[in-house]
Amino acid sequence: MTRSFLGWPAFPEAAEREVGNRQLRENVRRATHTIRGKRAVLAAERPDWEALRDTAAAIKDQVLSHLEEYLLQVEEKVTAAGGTVHWARDAAEANRIVTDLVRATGETEIVKVKSMLTEEIGLDAALEAAGINARETDLAATIVQLGDDLPSHVVVPALHRNRSEIRDIFVREMGRHGRPAPEGLTDDPAELAEAARLHLREKFLGAKVAVSGANFLVAETGTLVVVESEGNGRMCLTLADTLISVVGIEKTVPRWQDLEVFLQLLARNATGERMAPYTSTWTGTTDGDGPAAFHLVLVDNGRTRALADPVGRQALRCIRCGACMNICPVYERTGGHAYGSVYPGPIGAILNPLLKGLDDPQTASLPYASTLCGACNDVCPVRIRFTDVLLDLRAQVADGGQHPVERAALGAVGSVMAHQAAWKAAVKGIGVVGPLLLPRKIRLPGPLGGWTDSRALPDIPRESFRGWWKRTEGATE
Ligand code: SF4
Repeated sequence: MTRSFLGWPAFPEAAEREVGNRQLRENVRRATHTIRGKRAVLAAERPDWEALRDTAAAIKDQVLSHLEEYLLQVEEKVTAAGGTVHWARDAAEANRIVTDLVRATGETEIVKVKSMLTEEIGLDAALEAAGINARETDLAATIVQLGDDLPSHVVVPALHRNRSEIRDIFVREMGRHGRPAPEGLTDDPAELAEAARLHLREKFLGAKVAVSGANFLVAETGTLVVVESEGNGRMCLTLADTLISVVGIEKTVPRWQDLEVFLQLLARNATGERMAPYTSTWTGTTDGDGPAAFHLVLVDNGRTRALADPVGRQALRCIRCGACMNICPVYERTGGHAYGSVYPGPIGAILNPLLKGLDDPQTASLPYASTLCGACNDVCPVRIRFTDVLLDLRAQVADGGQHPVERAALGAVGSVMAHQAAWKAAVKGIGVVGPLLLPRKIRLPGPLGGWTDSRALPDIPRESFRGWWKRTEGATE
């Protein structure tokens, strides 16, 4: 049974469990510090770094404000190049489309690469229910799948695992799913990479159907782009007879030339490299070269809902570089699983509630998974203002009744303030009885006591400002 984030607890509960795991904290700290150090060096060497960020944000905003036109252009170009475009409103529709397409080929074992979206929609479980076994081929995703684990980072899904844990997973699991790990495998990175290469090569050569995601979708040409480090993506994209790409509608960019901006930003932010080792692009099908059939499944699954949020829509600019999670002090301590989604860290704290809504206590807890330090604002290549979106989402949570006591108290204050006479009487009354009834020092129960121990309530003035004004200036209220 494929593991999923379905039914995951709210962030505080999940985070409490994760922070107790010292090994995980150490793995995450070491990995995030390494990547963010490399990123900082490469960002600093570009004199036009801030201009690149401005341009990327502007391009994405332009796409989002004309999304319908660009998507129709994508459909036209992909169709003209020999591909077939399918539209999916939600996860169930996307899963049904992909399952039917695979079934039509008669295959029961397929390969997958580079698709967080298929994790978001639970495609593996849907395929499994239909008797189809989907094997991941990205190295980190392979580690996650073999370990019956869940991804914890958008670029390095197995970031929470160290070398010796990976070795144990390979030795234990590879043989159950194909070619076993070599005898005497150690945790040397080169040996681990070779073991994965041999195991995966068998999958690539045997698979007739591949499922991929895409980093970008170029509207003017109908071209899809996958950026990766290992070349496994390219094997998937070129060796299968049928290629099915499942892509979120927000991945669109208008022009081929826009890639010049995004490819520079993505590689430097994601892995601290000047250029990603493999950038694969494909447009429809070509006779005698690559897959004979190409299907593009364009998925909404909450994206138009996020688009309708005037503050939150900027989250759809995200190019999944992972820089925000590599810099986040909360992510560093909890790791990615605490966020209960394939999108963890600061982007997960805003994107998941925007995609799914705030009715679920799990998504409603995510906007609070932040110290509001703003480090994510400073690194995001598409200039997402996380702190603005987090605060706006918190306001929506409060308005939506997730905190009934707070809402009732604010409601009572609001109705008093709405009536001038009631407000004047309340202010006057507090001035008279407040100083007598409220002590300067109070102590809240439990752990909150530490906060009140070092703070005193401000003095409540006996006379209101309005009263003072009237008395000293003789003004009428
Ligand atoms: S929100 Fe920005 S920093 Fe975070 S993954 Fe997306 S593009 Fe990268």
